Amino acid sequence: MIYQGNAITVERRDTQGGNDIAMLTFDLKDESVNKLSSAVVAELGDAVKAIQAESGLEGLMIRSAKDAFIVGADITEFHSLFHKGEEYLVEMNLKVHDIFNAIEDLPFPTVTAINGLALGGGCEVLLTTDFRVMSEKAKIGLPETKLGILPGWGGCVRLPRLIGADNAVEWIAGGTENRADAALKVGAVDAAVAHEQLEEAALDILDRANAGELDYHARREEKKSPLKLNAIEQMMAFETAKGYVAGKAGPHYPAPVEAIKVIQKGAGETRARAQAIEAKSFAKLALSSVAFNLVGLFLNDQVVKKKGSKYEKQAQPVKQTAVLGAGIMGGGIAYQSASKGTPILMKDIKDDAIELGLKEARKLFAKQVERKKLTTEQMAEKLSNIRPTLSYGDFGNVDLVVEAVVENPNVKDAVLTEVEDKVSENTILTSNTSTISINRLAKNLKRPENFCGMHFFNPVHRMPLVEVIRGEKTSDAAVAATVAYARAMGKTPIVVNDCPGFLVNRVLFPYFGGFSFLVEQGADFQRVDKVMEKFGWPMGPAYLLDVVGMDTAVHANDVMAEGFPDRMAREGKTAIQVMYDNKRLGQKNDKGFYAYEEDKKGKPKKVSDEQAYALVKEVVKEQKEFSDEDIIARMMVPLCLETVRCLEDGIVDTPAEADMALIYGIGFPPFRGGALRYIDALGVAEFVAMADRLAEELGPLYAPTEKLRAMAKSNEQFYA
Ligand code: NAD
Repeated sequence: MIYQGNAITVERRDTQGGNDIAMLTFDLKDESVNKLSSAVVAELGDAVKAIQAESGLEGLMIRSAKDAFIVGADITEFHSLFHKGEEYLVEMNLKVHDIFNAIEDLPFPTVTAINGLALGGGCEVLLTTDFRVMSEKAKIGLPETKLGILPGWGGCVRLPRLIGADNAVEWIAGGTENRADAALKVGAVDAAVAHEQLEEAALDILDRANAGELDYHARREEKKSPLKLNAIEQMMAFETAKGYVAGKAGPHYPAPVEAIKVIQKGAGETRARAQAIEAKSFAKLALSSVAFNLVGLFLNDQVVKKKGSKYEKQAQPVKQTAVLGAGIMGGGIAYQSASKGTPILMKDIKDDAIELGLKEARKLFAKQVERKKLTTEQMAEKLSNIRPTLSYGDFGNVDLVVEAVVENPNVKDAVLTEVEDKVSENTILTSNTSTISINRLAKNLKRPENFCGMHFFNPVHRMPLVEVIRGEKTSDAAVAATVAYARAMGKTPIVVNDCPGFLVNRVLFPYFGGFSFLVEQGADFQRVDKVMEKFGWPMGPAYLLDVVGMDTAVHANDVMAEGFPDRMAREGKTAIQVMYDNKRLGQKNDKGFYAYEEDKKGKPKKVSDEQAYALVKEVVKEQKEFSDEDIIARMMVPLCLETVRCLEDGIVDTPAEADMALIYGIGFPPFRGGALRYIDALGVAEFVAMADRLAEELGPLYAPTEKLRAMAKSNEQFYA
């Protein structure tokens, strides 16, 4: 044994060709995956020293004893590391470079056997060796830019030298995970082999290098040397890429472009100088609020996933499902279920509705075929997972039903009580209602414990969130099965308790309330849209209302006003009501706050409409001037406060779940981390002071809760 640590062991072994090599195995104790925490990196340093001190070695193979190779650095450490400041981070990365460079400089050939996922720091480890052999099951990539940082352990230096600047830019700026065939094609690995042959193939490479069949010195030199690019290649690889990537990432996500700059600056430099450039830029990005929030998002996502998988483990199997209603939502739910492999019955009362639902599903599958994600055979197979029906004939063996008929409590009551008699005693019933209380719908059921909400977002195939709503009588088994089904559909379920609007709409409508106040006080709604889009929302509030539909918004608003009259009931008309009264329902009838025309692709394109302005005048009471900051505060404060109330009222369990629900459900700007993270960033005390100022002018929608005041006083935050 050359080295034995908590995560790494190094042993001597012979190869078939009789070479005496060191085998370095990553196998982090008590963990399901290998991660490069600070402790593991320090171990790697010790292991490399032990290898250097060992005499008579003729090669090194790096491998993993887990399913994944190394999933990356330990992201749970990032916030505390980033907190230590620029100088510390630069130093830290230079120390890691010393270790990685020592592997790269070992006096014998080296190879990595990539058995599974190798991301971020894990991918940077495998870039240090002379050769790489990859299992056809593995994937490699450098996803750091998705966390608002860049590969800081040599990825920006070694990858371009290995696969060329243009490919490296694509991998790093895109943060892609790459399969073995793609990796082989660009030269990131030397061989892609069947999983069972991986180590044999890796050892064979060492033998061939030792026998002089493969020139590892030349390979190594090439990887360590500056890139030779002429002016045109420079232009193509970097300048064009920067423009394209900047456009795609948008102004709030600087990391992908910064990564390209680092590759560009380091391209013509020695390894040491290029690594110093990388370290500096890494530290700069790591200190940004974007990186802080994106890392926070990753950690929150882990919380949500862990909870989901815990429910999943307790769930009874969901093998056959049914959806009632083949409308916009029912059709979408059927498609998504079929697409991910759970057979589903799609029942409606109208033949033409079923035809429409199927047509929509066919269209979505056809797009997948067009994009070469599915073959026509696969499409046919998946489509056959949807069984349309007008009767309850086959409902006896259905494990879970999603009710998605019209949003009318009487119709839903009738449909739910009817279906309850057609299914087995253990079948879970769920409703996709957006506004009707789950407790109310449970009242007429014989088995209310088997019932909960399953609230999807439109369009179902694109929106990641599913709110699973627990009613007073809902059993854990019902929640578990619903969570499991949502996950099987590729969605992110978040469990919340019943209340008007549940979590997401309860938080969204105060935001629309803020919008109504702004318009009444003279703000131009198109400007409000622009400011909020610049803030990071995918669409501004007026545009969003057009997409949601004014009828849906007015109805939901009434429900909220009834549920929370103290702050959500309004006297007088709002701009939303004016649009509704004038039959400007939004995109569904081509007129709302904007007018809609078809673009070249047949998609609705919004255009300014004087008539909307003329109508809105009815509610404009003053002509106040607003700065961009004013607009942001007046929009964001009510949304954030309602999120706080949901947490305080126990509607949602944790800040992590609340923030993720807003990001996945309504497109809250991810780089801002969510409503509660946003309050933390502003400072709870500053936020309370701002809300108080606005409450004086605009009333209880802006009034902070007592608990929040207490948090401000005691300097508490939502996230530690
Ligand atoms: P929709 O009008 O497009 O579809 C409703 C379908 O239900 C119609 O095809 C209708 O024929 C059918 N239906 C009516 N009575 C039925 C019965 N007794 N049995 C079977 N089918 C019956 O409505 P939608 O937009 O798909 O909304 C459905 C549900 O989803 C509503 O509760 C709505 O609040 C909720 N929801 C909608 C959205 C959205 O953005 N559209 C988002 C989330 C949730």
